[in-house]
Amino acid sequence: MRMLFESVTTNGVTDADRIMERIATSGLDRTDLRLRTTIERLAECGDRPIDFETFAELVGPELRMISRSFQRQLAIPDWEEFYSDIQTIYRNVAPDRGGKNADYIPILRDANPERWGVAVCTVDGQRMRLGDVDVYHSIQSVSKPLNYAHALVLEGADFIHRFVGTEPSGRPFNALDMLPDMRPFNPCVNAGAIMTAGIIASGSPDQDAREITQDVMNLWSRLSGKIGEVRYSEETMLSERATAHTNFAIAYLLQGRKGLPRDVDLHKMLDLYLACCSIEMTTEMLAVAAATLANGGVCPITGEEVLPTEVVKKTLAVMQSAGMYDNAGSFTLEVGLPAKSGVAGAVLVVVPNLMGFATFSPRLDDYGNSVRGVAFCRELVDRFTFHIYDNLSGGHTGCKRDPRASQHDRKERDLSELRWAVAYGDRYATKVRDLMLDCMIDVCLADGEIKEDEITTISTTYAEIMGQPTSRQELERWIDSRRSKNDGRESPNEEQGEAAYSQLLAVLARERSSLDDNGREVILESAFRVACSDGSIEEEERVKLRAIARALGISEGVLELEIARFQRRLLQR
Ligand code: GLU
Repeated sequence: MRMLFESVTTNGVTDADRIMERIATSGLDRTDLRLRTTIERLAECGDRPIDFETFAELVGPELRMISRSFQRQLAIPDWEEFYSDIQTIYRNVAPDRGGKNADYIPILRDANPERWGVAVCTVDGQRMRLGDVDVYHSIQSVSKPLNYAHALVLEGADFIHRFVGTEPSGRPFNALDMLPDMRPFNPCVNAGAIMTAGIIASGSPDQDAREITQDVMNLWSRLSGKIGEVRYSEETMLSERATAHTNFAIAYLLQGRKGLPRDVDLHKMLDLYLACCSIEMTTEMLAVAAATLANGGVCPITGEEVLPTEVVKKTLAVMQSAGMYDNAGSFTLEVGLPAKSGVAGAVLVVVPNLMGFATFSPRLDDYGNSVRGVAFCRELVDRFTFHIYDNLSGGHTGCKRDPRASQHDRKERDLSELRWAVAYGDRYATKVRDLMLDCMIDVCLADGEIKEDEITTISTTYAEIMGQPTSRQELERWIDSRRSKNDGRESPNEEQGEAAYSQLLAVLARERSSLDDNGREVILESAFRVACSDGSIEEEERVKLRAIARALGISEGVLELEIARFQRRLLQR
């Protein structure tokens, strides 16, 4: 307790603002129910000084959460860094104005196409909101996986799958195609979702469609940690029903071919399906719901078990194989995460065991998926190890970032192993060290000469990464030997510098397969530090770094994040 207190203290006292700020920088929100007592008490404190006894009393009832927040023990320990990285991606994607709004009903056609929001919630309830995350919109097809989950709870998988399949269809979402045994392909295409609505409706003969929709809304509310009101849009529902010709055709086909569960009324089934599409939520709420799925059905911010884990497992599997309309296969290939999109422009994505996020942008691609939403997902997995197969043991990820708690201390550990091994002449570690030095020197030599301040930077970078200094003579000897490779001249010209630099790239590309991610990263990082040692990063330096990243098999997206982080640090100075 003392330690926690001291981490927010100067001269033995602290105040409510400092404690609040500490909570906020760990990613926890002031509306977080797990911290309600602390937040309430802090609000009462005003700007009065808080001593140790008051602090202990204040945070006592929620000590576990406070301790995890203060000691960076939440799902993503370095929250501020992660926050800025996501902001970078959010901004990168914003200019994309491709695609167009769904136009089959006025409310979607007339929605502001410029809206762009991204919300994140981790399995520990750390939350982020960027842009239009408070705008209510109909959830449309995002309702489908939850209806499936709800049906699983009510009726069990055996009953459901007598009527609905689990195969990706590869067909447009509203296609009339069925599996050879006449079941709809899966619960995420319209036919399967309509049948799923039929299953739910058939189990509640005494409730009308609107009453059952209310049950579903209550489920959404618990799933999203009750952070906002789940609404229902009568206007959307009426338009949906007036234009639901294809959905009617599907419903009749289902009835005619296979028969409906318990002979449920066809109109009730369709009304429930359409009403669930007309539920309205915000992106922020959807992100918390996604996080609940990521967390095995337990809502991160209320701690309530909303869905059994077994149900979540099945739901995620269906989302993974069929959540993104007939683009689900490519999406799984590229992004590799369970997701569900809706034609109002929402995409809900689950990073199992880590976080959920939701995006909102109404312009859709040809499949019906939000263009910016999909672009965001792509950029995200290009930079972070979130694709389900990014964590194959022993494999290379292109040095993507892993913000998970379990990975947080890894870099430090790997570096200490490298340092220790270099000291004893380990072959691999020495190679990494040598390549790192070559790389730093050649980046400087590329313009023909190496300046005094560049030598200083190389020497400091070396000392920081290797944990021990190198002598000036040793460094000069190394530089001379690099120079002598440039045609044996004392001061090579620019052209020769370039030639040596291309040679370096060739060496890196050749050595790449024998380097692990950590080794590759150390090399790029050293070059990076040298390139921006003058406090800025010019276009030609970017080009050089990009070439080094490419030669090392490091994702350029990761490099871009590093550059953005560097520029951010400059601004903060
Ligand atoms: N209400 C829409 C329909 O059934 C849902 C479309 C969607 O989001 O895929 O046509």
